[in-house]
Amino acid sequence: MHSNLNYSLQSSNSFNIKASCSHIYFPCTLEDLQQLPELTANNFYILGEGSNTLFVESQAPIIIQPKFTGINILEHEDHFIVTVGAAENWHDLVCFCLQKGIYGLENLALIPGSVGAAPVQNIGAYGVEFADFCQEVQWYEFASKTMYSLTKKTCFFAYRESTFKQEHYNKGLITQVTFKFPKQWQANLSYAGLSELAKDSTAQQVMAQVIKLRSSKLPDPKELPNAGSFFKNPIVSADDFAKLQLQYPNMPNYPQAGGDFKLAAGWLIEQAGLKGFRHGGVGVHQQQALVLVNYDSNLGTDIISLAKYIQRKVADKFSVVIVPEVRMITCQGEREFSSLSDNNPIDNGTNGSEKND
Ligand SMILES: Cc1cc2nc3c(=O)[nH]c(=O)nc-3n(C[C@H](O)[C@H](O)[C@H](O)COP(=O)(O)OP(=O)(O)OC[C@H]3O[C@@H](n4cnc5c(N)ncnc54)[C@H](O)[C@@H]3O)c2cc1C
Repeated sequence: MHSNLNYSLQSSNSFNIKASCSHIYFPCTLEDLQQLPELTANNFYILGEGSNTLFVESQAPIIIQPKFTGINILEHEDHFIVTVGAAENWHDLVCFCLQKGIYGLENLALIPGSVGAAPVQNIGAYGVEFADFCQEVQWYEFASKTMYSLTKKTCFFAYRESTFKQEHYNKGLITQVTFKFPKQWQANLSYAGLSELAKDSTAQQVMAQVIKLRSSKLPDPKELPNAGSFFKNPIVSADDFAKLQLQYPNMPNYPQAGGDFKLAAGWLIEQAGLKGFRHGGVGVHQQQALVLVNYDSNLGTDIISLAKYIQRKVADKFSVVIVPEVRMITCQGEREFSSLSDNNPIDNGTNGSEKND
């Protein structure tokens, strides 16, 4: 199997943080996987394209970057079955499917990252999520050295959630994903920004609009390093929401099954006065408060200090705790954001380096 020692990860994470690992493995066959060294629970990290990953320290743990490639299409009477290797690029897959006349993923265009990472947090955008078209996920278990097929049902997909963050967490890796696309297709224009399209829009027109909207709102990580939405939208109880709404009648909210309410983390951050906030080499994006950007820092800890500051300010104002969607990787493996210490806390402007652009 192809592998490397002392490998720089700076170009393998969309925050462009300077980090390296002692070993990186690039398995691309079952035999490769079976040759991986014994891994203890927390001393490794499975890396896709690093667009939802923050290397907190300059030293990263052992990295496994699956390199399973290939796309296979099976046409049936009323649907297509498409099987895709984990290392394929997500946006390239969306474009490929549309070129072949296979529709469904157009609302998920331009989401950075690999196909193998898509099930992990059940990627979603513009009213569509990965789970909508997932048939099964091929998953290799480290302990038994065996490949398993997980059906959509057993993946337990939810908002930015799946079994790969829960029961199957760190016990194996995804090698392949299988999608089912019904031939009978209708544009999903439910989401704001797409409703202006004509009802009979083609999948290509929907994709073009999604690309236009995303490009106008989100910074391109190649130009301004970032990891997309840094925080998850928090979900609060109906009681808590009622109290918040009394004080903030215009607060955006999305009623959830079960009676809870999802709030817009970006709105909370903006209302806390942090849109465009900048501290040293990192900051909050000027147009999209949910996106933290790296102007010119090499240090993951700078992003951590900024994120902790934002979390404090939002909690002070709304009594709502927002938590990151981005994965936090230390030299010992992945860590909870709450367990990371902030050695250089931002102190409300007293050091004079903050500014709102
Ligand atoms: C500009 C920008 C916009 C974004 N917009 C969106 C959006 O609209 N919607 C959305 O949902 N996300 C969005 N994201 C987040 C990101 O694109 C997704 O989380 C994507 O799925 C990450 O893919 P990746 O390959 O880069 O994953 P990585 O960051 O490399 O890894 C993410 C997680 O997946 C795990 N993983 C990766 N590959 C595998 C594998 N083969 N097997 C098992 N586990 C694996 C990792 O261990 C980690 O836990 C955005 C990010 C950016 C930078």
